[in-house]
Amino acid sequence: MIKITLPDGSIKEFVENSTPMDVAKNISEGFARNVISASFNKKTIETSTPLTTDGSLVLYTFNDADGKKAFWHSSAHVLAEAILSFYPNAKLTIGPAIENGFYYDVDLGEEVLSEKDFDKLEKKFLEIARGKHGFSMRSVSKANALSLYKKENNEYKVELIENLTDGDITFCDHSNFTDLCRGGHIPNTGIIKAVKIMNVAGAYWRGDEKNNQLTRVYGVSFPKQKMLTEYLELLEEAKKRDHRKLGKELELFTFSQKVGAGLPLWLPKGAALRSRLENFLKAAQKKAGYEMVMTPHIGQKDLYVTSGHYEKYGEDSFQAIKTPKMDEEFLLKPMNCPHHCEVYNFKPYSYKDLPKRFAEFGTVYRYEQSGELHGLTRVRGFTQDDAHIFCTPAQLDQEFKDVIDLVLYVFGSLGFEDFTAQVSIRDMKNLDKYIGDADTWEIAEQAIINAAKDKGLDFVIEEGEAAFYGPKLDFMVKDALGRSWQLGTIQVDYNLPKRFDLTYTGSDNQSHRPVMIHRAPFGSMERFIAVLLEHTGGNFPLWLTPDQVILLPISDKYQKYSEKVLESLENSEIRALVDNRSEKTGRKIRDAEVSKIPFMVIVGEKEAENGTVSVRKHGEGDIGTFTIEEFISLIKEEEDKTLKKF
Ligand SMILES: [Zn+2]
Ligand SMILES: [Zn+2]
Repeated sequence: MIKITLPDGSIKEFVENSTPMDVAKNISEGFARNVISASFNKKTIETSTPLTTDGSLVLYTFNDADGKKAFWHSSAHVLAEAILSFYPNAKLTIGPAIENGFYYDVDLGEEVLSEKDFDKLEKKFLEIARGKHGFSMRSVSKANALSLYKKENNEYKVELIENLTDGDITFCDHSNFTDLCRGGHIPNTGIIKAVKIMNVAGAYWRGDEKNNQLTRVYGVSFPKQKMLTEYLELLEEAKKRDHRKLGKELELFTFSQKVGAGLPLWLPKGAALRSRLENFLKAAQKKAGYEMVMTPHIGQKDLYVTSGHYEKYGEDSFQAIKTPKMDEEFLLKPMNCPHHCEVYNFKPYSYKDLPKRFAEFGTVYRYEQSGELHGLTRVRGFTQDDAHIFCTPAQLDQEFKDVIDLVLYVFGSLGFEDFTAQVSIRDMKNLDKYIGDADTWEIAEQAIINAAKDKGLDFVIEEGEAAFYGPKLDFMVKDALGRSWQLGTIQVDYNLPKRFDLTYTGSDNQSHRPVMIHRAPFGSMERFIAVLLEHTGGNFPLWLTPDQVILLPISDKYQKYSEKVLESLENSEIRALVDNRSEKTGRKIRDAEVSKIPFMVIVGEKEAENGTVSVRKHGEGDIGTFTIEEFISLIKEEEDKTLKKF
């Protein structure tokens, strides 16, 4: 008998050579029907692999990342078989699962595979899948593996096999198809019920442009047709919500080739929106006891050598700025922390002065490869809503709770309701790779876990994920399309206080090191606004949106009354504008809908006579006629609903 430990900690005995599928069936037949892959002692295996020793078994369904990986990798095998049926001379190379689906890279020689072939590939794929062919692994000697692919003149597989160790080489068979493969498959092809060939693109063998160009065929597959339909709908919606597209339509930001790639230019509406976000956080931070500081965009190279950032961002980032003095070198700042350490060093503190909380909307610069740049989410210059808290170890607990409160307030005010948190702690088996003494680490890790519990966060603890200089808490936010984004980080740091020799005088009159907390609820203004745009589809919360009201006079006659309404709104600090174009009202309404302005006010004869406004709400239509005062309080009420007091 062997002892199998399941993820919930329970241990069950099975006869030797039981398979993961046997274990699944032992749990329940219903569960077993959904199990598609497995790992044993953290190693991926087949659901049909006989288990011969004690160990920990995890069974995966399509809902698990590992399950999807096996599903999509298995789909790549089926795709390769389908490709071969139309292109018998194609040479197969590699076919991995990716984040959303899979691809297979093939050398088609002189032949071409294009979009018009997708349909027949999908049909063939499903025909193969319906055959319910099992995937089975077998070991092959290096010599046999090489001889097979040499016979096929497949130099790619030969190259792959040459880098493998004899004894470790396996083939995977399904129906009449064989491929070199390490394993990790679903039980049979019949589980794949839906497929879509998404795209075809050129790709160099091993990503090296000196090598042959291959054809990469991308696909995605699902265990249910409905899931594919939903996925494709989601992609359509994501396209509509792409922040690069919305940023242009709403005139928030742009990029200029002349200024340089990855360097966003904020347009008036975007700059105003960004200031509102900053002011919103500044107000909350003021209440939470933060003090604003300002520091320059550059610093002496030595500063970053001291902080250790030069090692991380020096060689591969923007290079040093020279001055007429030969021996002088400055760097664009990649991080604000070193500057804030020197702000702390301005004067001596006693324990009674702590915590000090220095905040800055600090712009930092990091060189990213041009291929890595993406809208506002990957840029070369961005502004962090940065702050550094310097406190005593005993204050960590409360400080952490307070920072979590602030982060939750930010998320709540911006409509992010679905999020999880991750606490990253030390790898307990490798304690010597961390700096700082074990006691203070213990205090910090406990402080984070306590704070996360106390605040009722849905969190996981990841051992070994902490930085060498301290544990941290990260927030993962799910957007309206179910995509996860990492926003908001709180990080404890024992390293910088030491490197910058930061001290305070304790109650014992001795000199002590403060603990430093880095935190940024938004992360960066650029990335946050991108995520917010995609989350809201450009329909920002009323308190934040660029224009709250647009007045649409139905003819020139009512311009004067419109101006009067505008003045009343502006006096109440409502952001409004008038559409004075001589367009038809229907056209003005349509344009206002596109620009996503929450309230449209129609002004005609009746309204001018009665001193009222007829209001349409974006996405809802007519909501009735109001006096100007009523309309103003309606807006204020709506603002208060999303923007609560901190
Ligand atoms: Zn495989
Ligand atoms: Zn920092």
